[in-house]
Amino acid sequence: MRPTTPDTRGGAEAGESRPVIGSRRGRAVEPFLAVEVGERAAALARDGADVVHFEFGEPDFEAPLVVREALERAIKDGRTRYTDSLGILPLREAIAAHYAETYGVSVSPDQVLVTPGTSPALMLLFGHLLDPGDEVIVSDPYYACYPNFVRYADGVPVTVPVAEDDGFQYSPDAVAGRLGPRTKAIVVNSPANPTGAVLAAERLRAIAGLGPCVISDEIYHGLTYDGRDRSVLEFTDRAFVLNGFSKRFAMTGWRLGYLIAPREHVRSLQTLFGNFFISTNEFVQWAGVAALREAADEAARFRAVFAERRRAMITGLRAIGFHVGFEPTGAFYVLANARRYAADSVAFAYEILETTHVAITPGAAFGPNAEGFLRFSYSTSTDRIEAGLRRLSGFLASR
Ligand code: PMP
Repeated sequence: MRPTTPDTRGGAEAGESRPVIGSRRGRAVEPFLAVEVGERAAALARDGADVVHFEFGEPDFEAPLVVREALERAIKDGRTRYTDSLGILPLREAIAAHYAETYGVSVSPDQVLVTPGTSPALMLLFGHLLDPGDEVIVSDPYYACYPNFVRYADGVPVTVPVAEDDGFQYSPDAVAGRLGPRTKAIVVNSPANPTGAVLAAERLRAIAGLGPCVISDEIYHGLTYDGRDRSVLEFTDRAFVLNGFSKRFAMTGWRLGYLIAPREHVRSLQTLFGNFFISTNEFVQWAGVAALREAADEAARFRAVFAERRRAMITGLRAIGFHVGFEPTGAFYVLANARRYAADSVAFAYEILETTHVAITPGAAFGPNAEGFLRFSYSTSTDRIEAGLRRLSGFLASR
């Protein structure tokens, strides 16, 4: 059974009699299937089911102790006010230092805008860059929210398919073939959600040289298992970098992210941010300083645990019959090919959830090219990974 969610999208426009609720802009935003699967999983759990969660991109670790202590200290010290709309200077300095140390690039703290998570930064950035009809290149599969952000800003997402047998990486030639007079930006997400693919440095360099500015979502940096992370800023200054604390530091609920922008864009982005958000939580920003300055060892430990889980997930999925044609080398996802079992990934994911209480995100959430795939997140313990795979094995055998 699939949950029934109120449909406020098609309505009268689709020739139906139901009333259209909300604006055209709002209706252009599609529900995120990972969240919908998660809500159904939560309902099953409330009814007593023991649900294995492979659907969410959320580390199961506590945030590093030094970060939690810094937060407590900040609150005790009364650091609970509005801040400079760009963010507190010590955090912007720590972010600039992190980019200098990790990638050898020069970023001024004045180019950094601190935001309550990477998601608001994405919304502001597309709002800042796009006029109606402007195009933004995204890969397919894509992080489900990108096309929604672009459409919400009246832009047009233009997809470039990336293939399993090419490591789910952009081909610079294919990207070049989709550029046109309205192309405003190329979105790069490496390591990528949902594929776990890491874009080769020479391809990133080529894409950075194509002409349009690059929007590089580097939120999964620090979770790369084979080689070092490469920032787009190593190849061009004409880029916007998005990053945050949710994944590397297991700080999803803290809501802390940032945007690094070319100087000439900062003032306008700051104006938008100041209007819509005023500032990011002051005490959370101080916790962010501690994360960048003092929690690198803990983040490395998280990474080592994820590396083990990655092995367990890939090996286990293959053993029970899923095709993992490309081994992901970053983030914490495996996009497994399930086409030999089902063409409709949404129906299949719900069938699995209802039958086995294993929650997985259907590939269709991430674009037409991911239909027939399922995204397994290994941000849960190895024991739970093995338990979930055992249930799936029994389910596939009985099907
Ligand atoms: N970008 C990507 C690729 C993501 O996977 C996510 C979270 N799932 C985000 C951005 C947003 O993260 P946050 O708002 O927690 O920083």
